[in-house]
Amino acid sequence: MKFDRILKEIKKEELIKLTQDLIRIPSVRRQGQGEQEVALYLARFLEGIGLDVVIEDVEPGSPNVIAVLQGESEGPCLMFECHTDVVTEGDPSEWKHGPFEGKLVGNRIYGRGACDTKGNLAAAVVAVQAISQSGIPFKGKILLGILVDEEGMMSGVKHFIRQGWANGIHAAMICEPGDNQLCITQKGALRAELITSGKMSHGAMPLAGLNPIPPMISILEKIKQLEEEEIERLGKNDFLGYPSITPTVLQAPVKGEPQLNVVPYQCRALLDIRTVPGQSHEALKKQLEDIVQEEEGSVNASLHSGPFKEIRETLEKGLSKGMSFQSKLDVFEDRPWTKTSREEKIVQAVSKTIQSVTGEEPVYGGVPGATDGTFLSAWAGIPIVTLGAGKWMIPHQKDEWVSVEELELTTKIYAGSALEFLNFGT
Ligand SMILES: [Zn+2]
Repeated sequence: MKFDRILKEIKKEELIKLTQDLIRIPSVRRQGQGEQEVALYLARFLEGIGLDVVIEDVEPGSPNVIAVLQGESEGPCLMFECHTDVVTEGDPSEWKHGPFEGKLVGNRIYGRGACDTKGNLAAAVVAVQAISQSGIPFKGKILLGILVDEEGMMSGVKHFIRQGWANGIHAAMICEPGDNQLCITQKGALRAELITSGKMSHGAMPLAGLNPIPPMISILEKIKQLEEEEIERLGKNDFLGYPSITPTVLQAPVKGEPQLNVVPYQCRALLDIRTVPGQSHEALKKQLEDIVQEEEGSVNASLHSGPFKEIRETLEKGLSKGMSFQSKLDVFEDRPWTKTSREEKIVQAVSKTIQSVTGEEPVYGGVPGATDGTFLSAWAGIPIVTLGAGKWMIPHQKDEWVSVEELELTTKIYAGSALEFLNFGT
């Protein structure tokens, strides 16, 4: 059986060593540090095992690495997508083992990126290496897209698509932690900044100014209602749960010192919006914009009516002339949700492989956050599957670890799925 031949080529020791090597090259994106060193290490490694490697700078010090293993004949292209950046280690003294030591303890490898996603990156590389060394002929090609800045603005995958690499890719495996579940859907995300602007004044004479805080609270309350309506309308998604609109930052004044007896000029909120299949981002943006515009209109109308009209008019002769309230919503990032049909060839190939390797049916799942796969799906129309070793709750925390056993299984699933996708069913 061909699967057995390839599984024999997967060497546990090599998988452990590569995971450790990758963890030991810190690649947090911060001043004076980026993905360059780990990217160049991988480029050399992949050239060493016979792949065609291209290095492309996305920003200085942050290169994408694209490596291709050609098959025997024409056929489809399967991408393995991984990222080289990791999130901050926080306070290293809080860690049981050094965040960049890559320490193997029993069945676990510890370190920043162990499961998100250097372990899974190593699994993809070892899987491709095993296919290459097994000598099993396959059609088409395997493309490893080892990209930068997944944890930030996803500039790596955006650059990859803009450079034309996504053209001609027939399916992609997104190598991210998820208990080796076969994830076929992921949440979308909108990131927005909301600013209300009034007029600064003495706290003892608030009518001489215009406080931007109460309108902000009113807007946030209406947004909360919108969230509840969306939850009611959509119900609970099997894999992703509920959609959400979460204010995560609330700030006033926006610039300068806060002071109890000063009405600030501006108030600012950041919104972390997560969407599920069935929601239209355009419709949602319009609903948010309507809430903001409605508040602006009603605050400005109140300046010239109601019990305070007279006081204001007196004041307007002096300090408050031409006073008006403004509110502005800026949606600065839009990441659509994704959903891949179970009928897609890549889903079938992975499902069949999981059954062959484990003897069990795959567990289907969903990804709670956006990944680089979001853009491969939304911008380039590529069917994606997300799968990898590591628990959902471990990434971005201290003492990040990955199980060697689980990682070995991931490697087998990657290798088997690639052959299944490229060789059979075409
Ligand atoms: Zn990740």
